Amino acid sequence: MFARSAFRVAQPLKTQARRYATEPTSQGGSKAFYAAGAAALAGAAYFYYSNGSASAAVAKVKEAVPAKPAFTGGDQGFVSLKLADVEIVNHNTKRLRFELPESDMVSGLQIASAILTKYKGPTDEKATLRPYTPISDESDKGYLDLLVKKYPDGPMSTHMHTLVPGQRLDFKGPLPKYPWSENKHDHIALIAGGTGITPMYQLCRSIFNNTNDKTKVTLVFGNVTEEDILLRRELAELENTHPQRFRAFYVLDKAPKEWQGNTGFISKDLLKTVLPEPKEENIKVFVCGPPGLMKAISGPKVSPKDQGELSGSLKDLGYTKEQVYKF
Ligand SMILES: Cc1cc2nc3c(=O)[nH]c(=O)nc-3n(C[C@H](O)[C@H](O)[C@H](O)COP(=O)(O)OP(=O)(O)OC[C@H]3O[C@@H](n4cnc5c(N)ncnc54)[C@H](O)[C@@H]3O)c2cc1C
Repeated sequence: MFARSAFRVAQPLKTQARRYATEPTSQGGSKAFYAAGAAALAGAAYFYYSNGSASAAVAKVKEAVPAKPAFTGGDQGFVSLKLADVEIVNHNTKRLRFELPESDMVSGLQIASAILTKYKGPTDEKATLRPYTPISDESDKGYLDLLVKKYPDGPMSTHMHTLVPGQRLDFKGPLPKYPWSENKHDHIALIAGGTGITPMYQLCRSIFNNTNDKTKVTLVFGNVTEEDILLRRELAELENTHPQRFRAFYVLDKAPKEWQGNTGFISKDLLKTVLPEPKEENIKVFVCGPPGLMKAISGPKVSPKDQGELSGSLKDLGYTKEQVYKF
């Protein structure tokens, strides 16, 4: 079964290891990593012979050698991964754990980035390709976890929901989205609908697992019903641990009577009240959700390479195109 939380006690060493594991994955980069690894090995061997402690030497090597990435981009093509475990999250969402090709590999994804899946059914004329954002940590070795919502007529999500452990799916990546580096912005706003939370959660993990990163985060998360709210426990943990830097506002279209949060769709009024103002320096607003939400909040993205014009609530509230990123 899955670990209870991807948020850990931040450790500078670990953060550094993650950064190595997610550096650009060009050939030259990989070579540089392994050259560094070889140097570390030589150092550790010296340590072993001079101190006589084999386990200490091995530990030192493991610490210094960056983990091998499963996904390297470029001309790598699709990699087939075996489904290891399935957890039912709610009435339409499953968490799927896929094994990486080698148990000591990391995914190789950078923050923020996604991964592409491919499936061609027996009667399909062409393959279906869809992006997903892993919710496991970039430093996790041997597996990656996806949170997948099933759409009744959706070819990929329906197929993924039929998979059982032992079956395989093709993946390609990484698909770089918005490169994050610590303290890149003073305050970010995340506006998510449904599974649009997954790239936002990736950003949150990166920010709050890094003790050097002081970015403030405001999340506005819209869902149909309360049971549709994904990663709620993880988000609550963030609010409890970082009350000064993380705030979440939940909006439900069909709210129960006792609901304390906002209701209906994500309104301009709510955004005006809780988001950092457009005139504040060094802010960024991220948007991810179903087409209806994108249209209302920011206007749609034209293609992976074209963010399109800014429209909708954010434009009306005075944000500029440069202040907004559509996943
Ligand atoms: C960067 C990125 C990351 C993503 N990460 C995740 C993730 O972690 N988890 C996850 O579950 N999903 C994620 N998605 C969505 C995912 O890629 C698929 O779109 C989703 O799983 C549906 O795929 P499908 O083939 O099953 O259905 P699709 O055929 O793509 O459509 C599913 C349903 O979406 C609606 N729809 C689609 N297009 C339109 C449109 N133009 N107008 C109106 N309605 C429309 C329809 O109701 C349709 O039935 C991500 C998307 C992006 C762009």
